[in-house]
Amino acid sequence: MTASKLKPHTGRVAWVTGSTSGIGWAVARQLASEGATIALHGRESASEKTEMLLAELHSLGSKHQIKARYYALDLADSAAIAPLARRIAIDLGPVDILVNNAGMQHVQSVLDFPPEKWAALLAVNLSAPFHTIQSCAPAMLARGWGRVINMASVSGLVGVAHKPAYVASKHGLLGLTKSVALEFATTPVTCNAICPGWVLTPLVQTQIDALAEREGLDEATARARLLGAKQPSQAFVTVEQVASLASYLASDNAAQVRGAQWTIDGGFTAA
Ligand code: NAD
Repeated sequence: MTASKLKPHTGRVAWVTGSTSGIGWAVARQLASEGATIALHGRESASEKTEMLLAELHSLGSKHQIKARYYALDLADSAAIAPLARRIAIDLGPVDILVNNAGMQHVQSVLDFPPEKWAALLAVNLSAPFHTIQSCAPAMLARGWGRVINMASVSGLVGVAHKPAYVASKHGLLGLTKSVALEFATTPVTCNAICPGWVLTPLVQTQIDALAEREGLDEATARARLLGAKQPSQAFVTVEQVASLASYLASDNAAQVRGAQWTIDGGFTAA
């Protein structure tokens, strides 16, 4: 393949956590279509659905002969993260692009927030990225190239009532991002965070459904209420828009973007 025909991520191996739905799936699609081999990851066991997702990735990346494999792991199982990174390296090659995307939400007052929910949420949203970085960064540093992209949130930058664990985990993830970016600042390995506002995915649909039920609203009104409260553009960010930002951060052109907390939020944090 001539250099001019090479896509930006040709030959790279990308591990996108939580990539069977929502933003993670869009990121996996985008990177595959731009030449990356994909470690698709989810909590659920391999199934007909994951086979279909892999087939789609293979077809998107067919011109670049990409590989794609599915890996199942509950990221709350921290001891299993390093072995999974080693498995991916054996099957596909060492991870060049690590996208810490998996995340969970629980909306409840701090007064009766179940401690086990707090622990589970912190484990998946904050501790898992620490463990994936610790597992993947040594090979990136040794090979002289690497990208870590952490899917944070506007909830990493501002507080939101009734989301104590989510907000704390995303603020923590931004801290982790900056610390790692500084530690690797003189190396070719970068670490950045994306801070989306409202994106219409299963994670947000659950909140729309809960609002509709609580207030007796129809679906459209509940969506408008959710946006109206916080997102000045009054429009959802799309998963494709977030994926294209992730693709940029994974590119060579982003080599000097380091420790960024890149908002893509319809003006959410400008207000
Ligand atoms: P989603 O529910 O479609 O995706 C979350 C993914 O994480 C799912 O694939 C899920 O299986 C996976 N996951 C959850 N718990 C897991 C666990 N224990 N082990 C392994 N995988 C697990 O929702 P999404 O909106 O696409 O969320 C993706 C990321 O984007 C999350 O980190 C979320 O916090 C962040 N985010 C979303 C929005 C939004 O408005 N949708 C806004 C800001 C940030």
